[in-house]
Amino acid sequence: MDQKTLLNEGLAQKLIRYAMIDTQSDENTGVTPSTPGQHKLAAMLADELKTLGLQEVKIDQFGFVTALLPGNAGKGRPVVGFLAHMDTVPGVPGKNVKPMVHQKYAGGDLHLPHGRVAVADNPLLAEAVGHDIITSDGSTLLGADNKAGVAEIMEAVCRMIKDPSMVHGDLKIAFTPDEEIGSGIGHFDVTGFGADVAYTLDGSAPGELEYENFNAANVTVVIKGVSTHTGTARNVMVNAVHLVSELVASVPAVMRPETTDGYLGFIHPNSIEGNVEEVRLQILLRDFDDQGIEDKKKLLSTLVNSLEARYPSCQATIETTGGYQNMRKIIEQHPKVVELATKAIEETGLKAQYRPIRGGTDGARLTYQGLPCPNLFTGGINFHSRTEWASVQWMEKATATVINLARLWAAEKK
Ligand SMILES: [Zn+2]
Repeated sequence: MDQKTLLNEGLAQKLIRYAMIDTQSDENTGVTPSTPGQHKLAAMLADELKTLGLQEVKIDQFGFVTALLPGNAGKGRPVVGFLAHMDTVPGVPGKNVKPMVHQKYAGGDLHLPHGRVAVADNPLLAEAVGHDIITSDGSTLLGADNKAGVAEIMEAVCRMIKDPSMVHGDLKIAFTPDEEIGSGIGHFDVTGFGADVAYTLDGSAPGELEYENFNAANVTVVIKGVSTHTGTARNVMVNAVHLVSELVASVPAVMRPETTDGYLGFIHPNSIEGNVEEVRLQILLRDFDDQGIEDKKKLLSTLVNSLEARYPSCQATIETTGGYQNMRKIIEQHPKVVELATKAIEETGLKAQYRPIRGGTDGARLTYQGLPCPNLFTGGINFHSRTEWASVQWMEKATATVINLARLWAAEKK
């Protein structure tokens, strides 16, 4: 594609082009990027960035695409990064995506060749009457998560190139692999990227600004029983299958993902495998507070100890196998990051909506690696489903937010 086409095609066309490339990630391949489609999109995005005239455009060995749009605001301004991920979620069909544009949506359910986006399940549709809505044909996901973000960053870059009167400092762009399977961002060269602050465009509803996420501890409880022949088991056998059932049943019903929301954390038994002799139970502990996650660890260890007390010949241990931390603690040390994002959103006419993320984000990991990185909305809704949709008008607001942020940061000193 030539520069003129890229500069003038607009947001909808960008999203449609990117959505048609199959970039589903796959947790089983053990490589980064996990699938060849991500290489394909990475190559395409790098080509477009070069055609647009960005500098330092590269694709590294893990498929990260990075580039620099040099600033026009003089020296000594903070370098601002904008990131979006290229992969789509495994588990929902993501190949042969056929995007459809529903011009000037008139309200009511959106009927697709293979399904329906129902107002009853999508209260935000009511706020998008008159908008141009993009969906798949209902047989696959759309991939607005996160190709809406990719398109918005690209479009913001295009507009700043088209209109040199838009003030901005040095901007760093990154398109990243394997966010959906959590294995991409660990390979990112944060120092090499060289941004002072950054934003992921990976949120959903208009105005969303996210800078707090769960603290997570993933643990495995190993319960060892005593196995005997069932014919002579009386008073000897200690069946680890029964023990694990008792343990799972003792997790308070009010502390489960299916019974909590907002700022409430949970204890979530996620998988079990084993037999009479030994059972391994994986549990996810989540809480926004440090104290909350410690309390949940303590509760679990009390439950495990009491199991051992009731069945002295069993052995039970708890191993921590992974986790992540709430970015809020670090973000609070950099108040400008949220302050300017709020301002950038509100200049578009939207109200900033702060939402706690009931999960982790790539931005949270980057924040702990020294790059403060909240998450901004994209205007894509109903992620990870065949009824995913995006409003072009909300995508316009996200693009405007990027342009505003670039200008606001250019008025700051490094
Ligand atoms: Zn995403």
